[in-house]
Amino acid sequence: MSKHATAALENAHQQLDKIASFLKLDPAIHAILREPQRCLEVSIPIKMDDGTIKIFKGYRSMHCNAIGPGKGGIRYHPDVTMDEIKALSIWMTFKCGVLNLPYGGGKGGIVVDPKQLSKAELERLTRAYIRAISPVIGEQEDVPAPDVNTNPTIMGWMVDEYIKLNGNQFGVLTGKPLILGGSEGRVAATGKGTAIIVKELLQKLGINIKNAQVVIQGYGNAGSFAARFLHELGAKIIAISNSSGGVYNPQGIDPIEAERALENNKGIQSIAGVKPISNEDLLELECDVLVPAALENQITKDNAHKIKAKVIAEAANGPVSTEADDILLERGIIVTPDILTNAGGVTVSYFEWVQNRYGLYWSEREVNERLEESMIRAFDNVWNMYQNHNKAATLRMAAYMVSIDRLARAIKARGWV
Ligand code: GLU
Repeated sequence: MSKHATAALENAHQQLDKIASFLKLDPAIHAILREPQRCLEVSIPIKMDDGTIKIFKGYRSMHCNAIGPGKGGIRYHPDVTMDEIKALSIWMTFKCGVLNLPYGGGKGGIVVDPKQLSKAELERLTRAYIRAISPVIGEQEDVPAPDVNTNPTIMGWMVDEYIKLNGNQFGVLTGKPLILGGSEGRVAATGKGTAIIVKELLQKLGINIKNAQVVIQGYGNAGSFAARFLHELGAKIIAISNSSGGVYNPQGIDPIEAERALENNKGIQSIAGVKPISNEDLLELECDVLVPAALENQITKDNAHKIKAKVIAEAANGPVSTEADDILLERGIIVTPDILTNAGGVTVSYFEWVQNRYGLYWSEREVNERLEESMIRAFDNVWNMYQNHNKAATLRMAAYMVSIDRLARAIKARGWV
């Protein structure tokens, strides 16, 4: 089993325990927040194209609904485990808290490598998964969205299957195709939000974003759009990677060229002027900003002392372990945490859900303006909390503080403790 998935829950618990002891959090609230309220494990038989039957495992975890319905993506990955999904659902609760969204956290996943399935098999699996988790999701219950290896096409099948069972409820999930009630700006939102947070942070640190050197690990939805928007802000993308390997060019890589290479199935290795680089070396490159945008547990006690970036911007969920956090703090490397940095995705998901419920749709400009406003407000809240603690805490701790304050008030107001 891969180490990123198994380590995630331990990391989420360590982060929570650390902040609980720092804040002297009511032990009952701490205990409530440590566990998801509901976890569902499903076993899904699928008829493959060759006529054989294969059984897939799927999960959905709803961590906390104190403030509102669960919210969070569904990932398709061969290393998915129940514990990983639990961890990701915990992080979603805190992410929604940092952005002041009226949601708690949720997350789902299927243990599958989607590249091994035909399109028809993928659709059958997707629809069967939705039938299996249908009793626990809903517009006011738990609202899924895309995550690693899922996209608007898959969300389209999902919403169709849900609607067939339960009637029209387009807001049951977000990240849908535009024609099915998706929102303008949703696909780019995680990467756009990441670029906004990096810009705000560099400004505070007195680092000029123009020509700032940026390294991006992972070139999926989050990484590729983060690269594009950081490039537009004047930063120089010096290295990128995906599951096929990494490439490096100190003169800068044009994200548009990278996207074109991927669209043409040529691989990032075909970009002019790049040299190959291993994942390990890429993380340890000298740069201003390192953007881990792939999976959990990439920066650990094993490599944290070798990182040469000034700032780490967590576009992925949980890429830095708690032990690594301590080492990076000691070394003066600033980490802008996942629950703030990559929250642009869920923020535009919230806009999508609101638009579905109103039946009134916003322009791309309107969505982007609201996204920028939300991200900057969240950044300022976290930064002020960080300053108020005289930098004794990290930005991660500050983000948790912003979130826990809201959660604790909701939990008390509901009379759970
Ligand atoms: N999967 C994304 C995340 O981890 C988006 C979740 C959503 O839009 O609900 O934040």
